[in-house]
Amino acid sequence: MTDTHCPYCALQCAMTIVDGEVSPREFPTNRGGLCQKGWTSAALLTSPARLTTPLVRDRSPDGARGELRPASWDEALDLVAGRLVALRRDHGPDSVGVFGGGGLTNEKSYLLGKFARVALGTSQIDYNGRFCMSSAAAAGTRAFGLDRGMPFPVTDLDDSGAVLLAGGNPAETMPPFVQHLRGAALVVVDPRRTATAELAAVHLAPAPGTDLALALGLLHVAVADGHLDKTYVAERTTGFDDAWRIAATWWPERVERVTGVPVADQRAAVRLLAEADRAHVLTGRGTEQHASGADAVSAWINLALALGLPGTPGSGYGCLTGQGNGQGGREHGQKADQLPGYRKITDPVAREHVQRVWGVDELPGPGRSAYELLDALGQPDGPKALLVFGSNVVVSAPRAGHVADRLAALDLLVVADLVLSETAARADVVLPVTQWAEESGTMTNLEGRVLLRQRAVRAPDGVRSDLEVLRGLAERLGQPGERFPVEPEVVFEELRRASAGGPADYSGVSYARLAAGEALHWPVVPDSTPRVFLDRFAHPDGLARFAAVDHRGPAEPPDADYPLQATTGRVLQHYQSGAQTRLVAELVAAEPEAYVEVHPDTAGRAGLAHGGMAAVVSRRGRTLARVRCVASMRVDLVFLPFHFPGDGRANLLTNPALDPVSRMPEFKVCAVRLERV
Ligand code: SF4
Repeated sequence: MTDTHCPYCALQCAMTIVDGEVSPREFPTNRGGLCQKGWTSAALLTSPARLTTPLVRDRSPDGARGELRPASWDEALDLVAGRLVALRRDHGPDSVGVFGGGGLTNEKSYLLGKFARVALGTSQIDYNGRFCMSSAAAAGTRAFGLDRGMPFPVTDLDDSGAVLLAGGNPAETMPPFVQHLRGAALVVVDPRRTATAELAAVHLAPAPGTDLALALGLLHVAVADGHLDKTYVAERTTGFDDAWRIAATWWPERVERVTGVPVADQRAAVRLLAEADRAHVLTGRGTEQHASGADAVSAWINLALALGLPGTPGSGYGCLTGQGNGQGGREHGQKADQLPGYRKITDPVAREHVQRVWGVDELPGPGRSAYELLDALGQPDGPKALLVFGSNVVVSAPRAGHVADRLAALDLLVVADLVLSETAARADVVLPVTQWAEESGTMTNLEGRVLLRQRAVRAPDGVRSDLEVLRGLAERLGQPGERFPVEPEVVFEELRRASAGGPADYSGVSYARLAAGEALHWPVVPDSTPRVFLDRFAHPDGLARFAAVDHRGPAEPPDADYPLQATTGRVLQHYQSGAQTRLVAELVAAEPEAYVEVHPDTAGRAGLAHGGMAAVVSRRGRTLARVRCVASMRVDLVFLPFHFPGDGRANLLTNPALDPVSRMPEFKVCAVRLERV
């Protein structure tokens, strides 16, 4: 019997594995609950689709690609290392790119960043968390000087009187989380009538891409209706006047015209938050995945600051991190602009510290962000090889058809994965790696709590851990083996030293403390910090910053050719690109294929019927999906889940217009039309 945590989302529900079967375990975040994904997760361990031998694709002398064929580990790793050496020799270190994932353990995230910068010497590393958490991270850092997604324990929400949730649908994405919202009056901001919106006291349904205007409007209402916490604003913040100068122009009737949210609902939402003894503002991907996503989150934080919530006991602002290690994954150096400990790669003091820990004299600078990296692949000034760990970009990246074309232009694509994901199927070399319960490692959940996931079952013969893969490649690239340990605890001990003194300081965390069940929320030096910001924010003057942000509409408004807007999201049964959940028969039976939610009138105008097939077409691609007529949908909006492969990929449609601060693509709104198939 082994105590562990779920392989999927950032709630990291606690579970026990006995004889390959999972059962829920009592833990503060899930309180003995699991969702359908967690309950069925043991099926991942016995999936017949599991890869157990490396695969190699031969190329003919003229470069034509053959079929993938089984190979030994030595052949596969020798081949990869040999090509990497040649590319670096001929084109320099930045000719090799690395793409990581927010589901990788802290140890893997850390060693992957070190591998890229030390063994490859490349600046070209980023990860799929850029598509997930980057806007909230940028806005949190801007406001508070530190991004710990949820700077308080989830259980604080139990005593909240009112919670505003902008762009999150936890009733489907992380159902056990919803029990923490039961005592609060819930305000849900979402253009769709989601399962979470059904629970709301007030559902604000702004037109897609107008969240920022709505947040500015709620700040306006808060001030105009006398709810500004003047003492808090004076003592704990700076920048209010500049932010207010903009919000003052967003009077309720103007906000109603732009967003469609009635004035009375705006006022009701603010009143609920302002009149509660304890209140919280939370954001999710719906408000973050926009070309103005960082500013939208800043606008929600402005509202929270005006009401005196962040850093106040029992209240606060937080973001709902999505991926299993979405928090830890952005702290240990697999992000283009960061070094371990959430240090900035451009900070000379941070660089010197990490160089000392790694025993090197120099490190590359910042590289391209995730989409920019993918877009540059195979181009004259871009990487000619890409190593992918824990990510399935052919399904999950925006403008996915274009990304697949870019992958095809590479000299070398290497993918480490459990199964032949859609990205792995295009690779030159596929490396089968261990998963979740087959290895030990730490994860950091959405409340900044570090968790130990213990190895519970033996890995199938033939697979290796990602740490072993990195070691094998590093040695072949001329690195001393001991610089790339393969034991997770040894890697973690180095991570502790590398993070010491940084914003995300793990120096007081140890496997022994975690195994003993201690609740360790970073920073841990050596005491845990379940609630950050109670005394001061992390800016040098201790004050939080209002941000002077203004509304910008969607990057691609609808027009005569593409008269509707499309938005994307998740369903209960699937997780991210579906590479894992599509292996589980029970989940596939419940949600087997791509679909599009459409208002019945919109479907009728396009000649579509419920249950039939539709083509959803944008400037970037065409997705085939089964029509679901949903009466609560806006007539100008369609919704597609993004978990499905092939012609059903929602991301064939999405717009890679990037946020200028976070480099987040605009996943959540693009212009489309519907066609009969
Ligand atoms: Fe819990 Fe998330 Fe796993 Fe569901 S997917 S059991 S909510 S950790």
